[in-house]
Amino acid sequence: MDTTLDWFGCATFRLALDDLVVWLDAYLDRVPGAPGPGVRADEVAEADWILVGHSHFDHVWGAERIARNTGARVVGSYETVRVLLAAGVPPRQLVAVAGGERVRLGPHVVAVVYPSQHSCVWAHREFPGAGEVCLGDLGLTYDERQARFAELGAWLVSVGPDVLEHLRASDQHALGDGGALVFVLETPAGRLLYQDTSGCWTSMLRNLQPDVAILAAAGRGNLDGEPIQGSLAQFVAAEARLLQPRRVVLSHHDDWLPGFTSGDLDVAPVRAALACTVPRSDLLELGYRGGDDVFGGLPGR
Ligand SMILES: [Zn+2]
Repeated sequence: MDTTLDWFGCATFRLALDDLVVWLDAYLDRVPGAPGPGVRADEVAEADWILVGHSHFDHVWGAERIARNTGARVVGSYETVRVLLAAGVPPRQLVAVAGGERVRLGPHVVAVVYPSQHSCVWAHREFPGAGEVCLGDLGLTYDERQARFAELGAWLVSVGPDVLEHLRASDQHALGDGGALVFVLETPAGRLLYQDTSGCWTSMLRNLQPDVAILAAAGRGNLDGEPIQGSLAQFVAAEARLLQPRRVVLSHHDDWLPGFTSGDLDVAPVRAALACTVPRSDLLELGYRGGDDVFGGLPGR
């Protein structure tokens, strides 16, 4: 089976499973100045499915146009589905999930959905570096986190007019992240886990044992609802310890929103933490649209 994975920046990927085209997130239209492959959502001609990890703009924005233009079906949270309905995607193309569902994508491919967690985006302004140890911020209530998130929103406006205009253009009025999800794609070539924000329920990841895990590396990691007491590199390694994948692919670690992101993430601390924690796994580092065989040459368990 052809299993080509192309990265389009942020947490957006295109996975070709023979002639089945599965998009993982749909954020393609970037703020001016952000590097990327230069493909716009309007230009996407091939899509059978779009799996959306959560309903923030840098994940779902674009899905409405790809779905309308191609007829692709979209799997996402109830909030993602609500946003896409409001954007004119026909209901028959929308599959609302919350975790626990098995969605058949093709004759030999099933996506299994699991509930997950969003990164603690309320806990920082600029994204911390991968090796930066972050402490505290424990036990905040919903309202306290909302207040911190509002401060972040106010600060983001100061990043510049291009970012502000982008935030306006991409605003689909989603209610928060809508509840983050992870997907495990069961294919004849192997099992692929897809995550698009740095958060998890540790009990959920245990025993999934994907062959390949796409793990988000951005912001302050969320372990079981609380910010990690440590670094992003330690967070990714903690997830890998639970998953024991044969291969790790990173997502969300590029300079997708300059000012909020401070350049491409230096992944050296992540690479070092993974080498320590899961020494038999390899780290596949993707460039934009590299056309990599995601299951090719996998190391043994
Ligand atoms: Zn998000």
